[in-house]
Amino acid sequence: GLMARLHNFCAGPAALPAAVLEQARDDMLEWHGRGLSFMEMSHRSPEVVGVVEGAESCLRRLLDIPDDYAVLFLQGGASTQFAAVPLNLVPPHAPVDYLDTGHWSLKAIAEAQRFADVQVVASSAASRYTDIPARSTWRCRDNAGYLHYCPNETIGGVEFFAEPEVDVPLVADMSSTLLSRSLDVSRFGVIYAGAQKNIGPAGLTLVIAHRELLGRARHTCPSMLDWTIASDNGSMYNTPPTFALYLAALVFDWLEAGGGLAAMETVNRRKAGTLYTAIDNSAFYSNPVAPECRSLMNVPFVLADAGLDGRFLEEASAAGLLNLKGHRSVGGMRASLYNAVPQASVDALVAFMHDFEQRCS
Ligand code: PLP
Repeated sequence: GLMARLHNFCAGPAALPAAVLEQARDDMLEWHGRGLSFMEMSHRSPEVVGVVEGAESCLRRLLDIPDDYAVLFLQGGASTQFAAVPLNLVPPHAPVDYLDTGHWSLKAIAEAQRFADVQVVASSAASRYTDIPARSTWRCRDNAGYLHYCPNETIGGVEFFAEPEVDVPLVADMSSTLLSRSLDVSRFGVIYAGAQKNIGPAGLTLVIAHRELLGRARHTCPSMLDWTIASDNGSMYNTPPTFALYLAALVFDWLEAGGGLAAMETVNRRKAGTLYTAIDNSAFYSNPVAPECRSLMNVPFVLADAGLDGRFLEEASAAGLLNLKGHRSVGGMRASLYNAVPQASVDALVAFMHDFEQRCS
């Protein structure tokens, strides 16, 4: 087995399942008796193509992705897709609508403004991004090419539990929620996600796009950002990140063997419930997010006395509870509870928090 692995609450890159890492270690020098490692093989070889096709099939089963959606494995992270979305979907200066629910919404908006006529339909800035603007207040345009939103704001810890009802294609940055629970893919025009939360290591980006929306990229769209070119080339227009693809394939197998996304959702709801209950039952810790949109994956919390933040983080770290520092833009703490974080890690965190509170009160 592996040496002792600590409790890792990192927001990204996230923890990976220990079983996946053990498999990768066993395959490292020599993959399936081929005399070389997977990452040393040609991406045109039947072995690599087979693993990538297998990964796509497994992902299609996990998310029940309809056949009229393309699955693309790309590079550049979700941040590259902030530009690729308008470049693939609308002509220059065309109207596109964006919902603003926090840090990652704003990043997507700022990038899209370079390529299209962006309107922010609503924003929760006034509540300091602790809730979701009521649908009745959104100023949507009938002629918008799409509506973009971020179903889980990784920094604010705000998650949507229902898809917005709109009359234009929905485009969603699912970087920190995809594969954490069941999802109705058919509600979306485009879903994209950086891999380094619930998919695999950093370096891989997933795009799931309705085929009706392909073939629209502008002439100036760089080839590497063009979803149609990626689709026509089986996600191998250039050399793909083969090691990241191989690890993602192992993660998908691990999810399927564990009972798929319904089973994962049950585990994730219990993990998040454990932590939110501990926070709510204490006057020492608090979470500012409206209860109906609290994220299952990213739980920000603050101490009543921010002067204790440094000590909290130091002692947590010494107790084997890693990466609990909140994002620099909001301060405080954040525990990310991605798929590879077991209930036992959350239990250890809650026990530590209780103990810390006793000692400091
Ligand atoms: N969108 C969301 C919701 C994220 O959480 C992140 C990273 O944490 C990003 C986008 C940026 O992703 P990447 O680092 O893959 O560009």
